[in-house]
Amino acid sequence: MPDDAHKTPSPHDGQGFATRMSHAGRAGTRTHGFVNPAVHRGSTVLVPDCESRRSFAKDRFNRVMTYGTAGGPTHYALEDVICEIEGGTRCVLVGTGLAAVTVPLMAYLKAGEHCLMPDSVYGPGRNIATGLMANYGIETTFYDPTIDEAGIAALIRPNTKVVYTESPGSHTFELQDVPALARAAHAHGAKVLMDNTWGIHNFMPFKHGVDVSIQALTKYVGGHSDVLLGSITTNTEEDYLTVRNAASQMGHFAAPDDCWLALRGARTMPVRLKHQEQSGLAVARWFEQRPEVLRVLHPGLPSHPQHALFKRDFTGSCSLFGVVFQPRYTEAEIFRFVDSLALFGIGASWGGFESLALPTTGFITRTATSPDLGGFAVRIHIGLEDVGDLIADLDRGLATLPR
Ligand SMILES: *Cc1c(COP(=O)(O)O)cnc(C)c1O
Repeated sequence: MPDDAHKTPSPHDGQGFATRMSHAGRAGTRTHGFVNPAVHRGSTVLVPDCESRRSFAKDRFNRVMTYGTAGGPTHYALEDVICEIEGGTRCVLVGTGLAAVTVPLMAYLKAGEHCLMPDSVYGPGRNIATGLMANYGIETTFYDPTIDEAGIAALIRPNTKVVYTESPGSHTFELQDVPALARAAHAHGAKVLMDNTWGIHNFMPFKHGVDVSIQALTKYVGGHSDVLLGSITTNTEEDYLTVRNAASQMGHFAAPDDCWLALRGARTMPVRLKHQEQSGLAVARWFEQRPEVLRVLHPGLPSHPQHALFKRDFTGSCSLFGVVFQPRYTEAEIFRFVDSLALFGIGASWGGFESLALPTTGFITRTATSPDLGGFAVRIHIGLEDVGDLIADLDRGLATLPR
């Protein structure tokens, strides 16, 4: 059924992020006065007559509910919220952040074509490039994520169709000059895809030349380590249809219950993110002063090699960063430090309310740059705990290291 009532009016431009996150995706969702939209679960959607079925089934651009996989009111509400976060016009929801990485790659590339991917790409993104994409005859060149406009232009081939970006990079936190890479890509007619999970709303992808923005909603949007979900946001009708068609051909879908959890997460995300940003910076600065630490990989710190790009393109940071220890420490010593922490879990995802510490050395694959950071690295995610307690815990943990 077409359902105009679900077109939620965009909150007023110029309003603050927290205001917009409180009001987006709410109006007109037929909630009988309840504040939140209902969860619409369903496979079959009944239509009033046969003629309606014929006309509705062809429409992929408008919000026409024809079958569960085409989405429903719960999806539409979240799609509107994600567009509000990233400044795009339309969004495709998929079951995981990883699916949000793979769907646009498969949508924009075909046999005989070429993809450019940063060496610091999220690991499973590298896996599809060297796995399925290679099997289907799509070649990928991994490039130094800090490459400049002339450098990327020199790597672009006649058959290059996608310049993929992720800023900062997974585990190593290099920032990319996305507008410069986008200029080179567009001069050649290639699409710019970006994994914007770290930047969330602190990097506005479409203002910086990105065509397709990827988010693992699993992280800060979900915010409670209880949901897996991904979004692919676009800014033109053509890009929306390209992504949407690829997602539906491959049978991708997001569960309405998970969309509802992500909607709930989005309402409080501005407050959580601000708190976590401040705590993250405080802990990162504390680490920087410690003699056990060689360097801290946090784009928001002046010591970060591309901090100038951070100041130019980002309005803030999230609470995920890296800590590189002095080279004199062994793996066993760093493992003992991490194991000794009481408030930091050892786990892979991030963006939840709880703090995490994850050894990354040995899990970093690099083919165009060096994976050697100068010492053993631990990725830190700062949650919502009191920052003084977190620092006290880390302080006790560092005391396990030999002097
Ligand atoms: C976690 C993550 C993903 C994948 O998200 P899942 O929901 O766990 O599949 C994609 N990109 C980045 C940068 C991530 O950190």
